[in-house]
Amino acid sequence: MASRTYDTASAGTTTLGGVSFWLQQVGVPEPSDALEGDRTADVCIVGGGLTGLWAAYYLKLARPDWDVVVLEREFAGFGASGRNAGWLSSELAGKYGTFARRGGRDAVQAMVRAMNETVDEVLTVCTSEGIDADAHRGGVLRIARNPVEEARLRHELATDAEWDVAAGHRWLSGAEVDARLRMSGAVGAAFNEYGARIHPAKLVRGLAAVVRGLGVRIHEGTEVRSIEAGRAVTSHGTVTAPVVLRCLEGFTAGLPGLRREWLPMNSSLIATAPLPEETWSEIGWEGREVVADGANAYACAQRTEDGRIVLGGRGMLPRYRYASRPDHDGITTSDAVAILTRTLHDLFPMVRDAPIEHGWCGVLGVPRDWTPSMVFDPGTGLGWAGGYVGSGVSTTNLAGRVLRDLVTGVDTPLTRLPLVGHHVRKWEPEPVRWLGVRTMYHLYKAADRREAGGLQRESRLTRLGALITGR
Ligand SMILES: Cc1cc2nc3c(=O)[nH]c(=O)nc-3n(C[C@H](O)[C@H](O)[C@H](O)COP(=O)(O)OP(=O)(O)OC[C@H]3O[C@@H](n4cnc5c(N)ncnc54)[C@H](O)[C@@H]3O)c2cc1C
Repeated sequence: MASRTYDTASAGTTTLGGVSFWLQQVGVPEPSDALEGDRTADVCIVGGGLTGLWAAYYLKLARPDWDVVVLEREFAGFGASGRNAGWLSSELAGKYGTFARRGGRDAVQAMVRAMNETVDEVLTVCTSEGIDADAHRGGVLRIARNPVEEARLRHELATDAEWDVAAGHRWLSGAEVDARLRMSGAVGAAFNEYGARIHPAKLVRGLAAVVRGLGVRIHEGTEVRSIEAGRAVTSHGTVTAPVVLRCLEGFTAGLPGLRREWLPMNSSLIATAPLPEETWSEIGWEGREVVADGANAYACAQRTEDGRIVLGGRGMLPRYRYASRPDHDGITTSDAVAILTRTLHDLFPMVRDAPIEHGWCGVLGVPRDWTPSMVFDPGTGLGWAGGYVGSGVSTTNLAGRVLRDLVTGVDTPLTRLPLVGHHVRKWEPEPVRWLGVRTMYHLYKAADRREAGGLQRESRLTRLGALITGR
């Protein structure tokens, strides 16, 4: 196979792209074992990210005699799974009301329980399979920096309590937050114990190695051009299989007929150089919690195993490219790096002198109702999972177990979760979807400015943004 290089660029002293900082750290692999001509399989999985790999893992454990293959255009972990912020948390896209419409209060509680258990499941598999993903289970801290953010986070905790799903969640006072880490302006935080930090590339590459060890062929460098009942057509041949699972999340729009299925949303991250010990003593953050602020367009961060801060922004950057255009090898813009760096300095002024070593981006999938789905039709043998809206690190594992149960035809508590069989209407054609999403994020940013400027209640712009996009 012709070797493929993954491009980098630079913004000042910051390296951009090269797929991601995480993959640069572990080494960007050459795609290997490309498909050579037509073949058959029992299960054909399209996409070698966490969704596809977890599905392969659990299917192979359940049916060791099945021939399971994964088809991957680049290499396992090339997508969001090898680029994310490393939040393994029980947070899930979608509203409780949506789940309740599908199965009442029980469905909401089952969903939250399943997500809590998923965090433990991923950590348990890492231990049992020897995947060293720098995992640290410190929980999730969402930190309020003004009264409106506090009210919003407290409201979320109260909603959890109303649905009786607040176990593991509690409010921390400003002093309690300070004792954990110094974020400027912190007035309190919502803490969720079901959360861990991971190194995304170590997790996804480690899982790929485990899956290969179980006998699954991962044909990398193999682009799927179309999926039909009973087959996946690739640039290298056709795989014929009674079961074909589409696990492409943010790349789904690239397949014929699926452009309006899940909106490919771009997200960027930066990584500082390792910070000196004096800076860490100033910040604290001994618990390695994954951390976000409480804004509408919020920042999320982790303290890495080698003492850096990796920080990304939800909604503060231009996130959706007109007509669903993908990024190029994770190369983000210098503007995105500048915005994230300003945010980092605002949250942690003590790291102002730390070099920003790397900036990169990736794409995730957003369904029209902002709720993930896990679907399998035994009639056609076609299935899919995705649309996790930025909460995919743990949800992909749940999806893998759900797809296993659906494909093997067993009725379990997992197959009765409200995300299962959830069909979502398509996004509007361009330019409506581009305008809608851009407007939503503009409104969120404007709302954050008003709230930070002393507004005493949540800005109405927040609700307007959600209304426009159906969030
Ligand atoms: C910058 C960023 C930060 C994020 N941070 C977090 C976080 O901290 N916590 C969290 O929970 N979630 C986070 N997410 C979301 C999470 O990473 C994703 O939801 C999750 O990784 C999706 O996994 P996946 O396997 O479904 O998709 P992907 O990992 O995107 O995998 C899809 C794979 O399909 C391959 N592919 C594409 N087209 C084809 C084709 N035609 N044929 C064959 N293969 C193809 C791609 O190369 C890719 O490897 C983040 C996402 C991004 C982009």
